[in-house]
Order: sequence, then C-alpha cells, then structure tokens
Amino acid sequence: MIGARVMRTLSEWSSRPKAPGFEEFLAELGTLGLKGTEFDAHAYARALERHLAYAIEVEKASDLTGRGDLAHRVLSSLVRQAGAMGVTQFFPDADPPRFLILTADGLNPWLYQHTVFHELAHVAAGHPFRHRLAPLAAPRPNGRSVDGARVGGHEETVRFPPRRLALRRPFLDENLCESEADLRAEYAILAGNLGQISLQKDNLNQAG
Ligand SMILES: [Zn+2]
Repeated sequence: MIGARVMRTLSEWSSRPKAPGFEEFLAELGTLGLKGTEFDAHAYARALERHLAYAIEVEKASDLTGRGDLAHRVLSSLVRQAGAMGVTQFFPDADPPRFLILTADGLNPWLYQHTVFHELAHVAAGHPFRHRLAPLAAPRPNGRSVDGARVGGHEETVRFPPRRLALRRPFLDENLCESEADLRAEYAILAGNLGQISLQKDNLNQAG
C-alpha cells in the first residue's frame, strides 16, 4: 500500500526523461548517512545542510509573525496569497549559501512532511531557483504582485545552487523539476518511515 503513490508518480513519467529511481535515492541517503535509518524531513534537512555546507531554515508561516526582515514578510505573503503549501527562497550570495523554506499553516503531519521534503528535494537535486530568486522588494502599485513573474517590477532571475546531492544533472524544465520533487518526497517518506525495511530488494514493487 505504501508504495502505491510512488508507483503512480512514477507512471506519470512514462513519456518523460528518465525519473530518478528509488535505488538512486537510497544511494544518496547513504551519502548523507541516512540509508537504512528512520528519519523525518527535519533530519533530512540537517543532513543535507551538513553535507552541502548550506544553511537551511524550515519555518511555518505562523512562526514568522513578528519577524521583521523583508524576506520573511514576502515569503509569508507568497504562501498566503498563492495558496502554496510551501515555498523556498534561495540566497546564493549568503555565506554559506542559504535556503529559507516556508510552509503554510494548518498542514496535517503527512502533508507537512511531504511539503518540506518536496522543497528539500529541489535543493538536493540542484534545481534552478527561478521566481524564488526575484529581488525581494515589496510590490509596487504599477508592478505585478507576488505572482512569481515580477516582484517590485523586476524581471525574474534564475540561479543554480553551487552544490547538489544528486549525481545526475538537474532538469531545466520547471514542470520536470516539480514532478521530480514530488517523486523524491514520496521516496523520502517511504525510506524515512520504513528505515531498514526500505533496503529489502523489490520492496517498492511489492508494496503497491
Ligand atoms: Zn516545487
């Protein structure tokens, strides 16, 4: 049963470039020291942070109340206005490079884990960060608002994180990146919940 969602997500890839496989994901977990262990999204974030020498913050929108800086305010409004479950802002020029992951309020525990794993998947896979990278200026009266295309009248920008966990090169197509992030989130929930059991050969096929 637990593998059904994974198999469904995989089937969506049938006409697309090769999706990352579960074995590939397990190998990455080995690199992070998480293979065969039980872990949640926060443990995965810490492992990713250590391995890639990044700073990765994970916060809920409601936790940002009273946080003054512009990045937090704009992200918070993105989550609320767009109805997104999560959003990531990449700060490539910070030292170390920094990722701020913000999740919507009121997600159930499974959805919360899935959302954070999804956002972390973009980091692990080295996906380009597009609108997330738009200059964090407040929307101007004559500019489009925070719809991801223009913020404060600035064009969107694209930046690749300097390091990634995945051996494969990242997709450039945004839809493929999103599908891969969903698939990786499913893998992460599967592996993180099953721990040692996830290493049994063919478990994934039998689980559906
Ligand atoms: Zn995404």
